[in-house]
Amino acid sequence: MAALAPYACHPEATRGRLHPEPPPQGRSHFQRDRDRIVHCSAFRRLEYKTQVFLNHEGDLFRTRLTHSLEVAQIARTLARNLGVHEDLTEAIALAHDLGHTPFGHAGQDELNACMRQFAPDAGGFEHNLQSLRIVDTLEERYAAFDGLNLCFETREGILKHCARRHARQLGAVGARFLDGTQPSLEAQLTNLADEIAYNNHDIDDGLRSGLITIPQLLDVDIFAAHYDLVHRRYAITDDKRLVSEVIRAMINTLVLDLTRTTAANIARLQPGDADAVRAGPPLAAFSEAIGAQADALKRFLRKNLYRHAQVMRMTHKAQRIVRELFCAFFEEPRLLADEYRRDEPARQARAIADYIAGMTDRYAIREHRQLFQLD
Ligand code: MG
Repeated sequence: MAALAPYACHPEATRGRLHPEPPPQGRSHFQRDRDRIVHCSAFRRLEYKTQVFLNHEGDLFRTRLTHSLEVAQIARTLARNLGVHEDLTEAIALAHDLGHTPFGHAGQDELNACMRQFAPDAGGFEHNLQSLRIVDTLEERYAAFDGLNLCFETREGILKHCARRHARQLGAVGARFLDGTQPSLEAQLTNLADEIAYNNHDIDDGLRSGLITIPQLLDVDIFAAHYDLVHRRYAITDDKRLVSEVIRAMINTLVLDLTRTTAANIARLQPGDADAVRAGPPLAAFSEAIGAQADALKRFLRKNLYRHAQVMRMTHKAQRIVRELFCAFFEEPRLLADEYRRDEPARQARAIADYIAGMTDRYAIREHRQLFQLD
């Protein structure tokens, strides 16, 4: 690993873990966190969870797992370019979507709606908070504690968004949502690596599915510019290769622009250590021009892919499955295994949300079929 900049998170100066443990041997605190994430069961379930396309719609589409790996790869490049801790960015990237429900955002929105309806005081369902809940309490692997007992810096990065009401109950890791400070630079970069990854792979998956087309994308500046660039450089007639080169070039532009703009912010503000990063304005940023182009691409994907009739049909089905599972379990908790039964309604609702959120797409479909079909 390249030398760490003073403003990086230094593992030996970690703010520590919720349960004190002897320091790791032969690896750093952040490597240990990354390793714990890779070994946990929530991480393996990402393989069968929807990113945009349902897991069983095709073997080549991204899943939550391959999305997380792409985020980690981009985040590590950014970290190395800017002298911050690569293993920490990797740990944050690999864990950032652990709390996602089956069926992508549709599943999450419906689970949130169910929680608000059946347990109005329980605080709904947020996937970022759920990712933290998994690493803090839900994983059952270690003799001495619940969860993975990760370092503050990893937990801080995992909690990308958080409502104020939840932040108040989270102690140090929630403080920045109340006092308006920033997370570490590692967390800021991983957050933008997530955007770079999904904007680009959703173009790829969208084109592969046939729901969006190249002529449509040529109306989007950032795509059109890189399409021209690739055309000028190579005589490609094969659309598959062409799209892959355009996406490759776009990722490169975004990573370089983010690196340059962030480096300039660092040079201007000269944060002396990781706490100075937290106290200052956001450091990780795209330039104005590239940021505007990336936003236009996001708008295009929202309008033409995420709200495409075929995706909406999937969304609709997914919401029905999540709602019907939730209602069945809440109205008749005896349908649940003992470990998910609680004696108080708000706690029961939360246990059901944990159970459903932990399901893979195919497990949820199977469970739904078992509960609602007689054959
Ligand atoms: Mg993500």
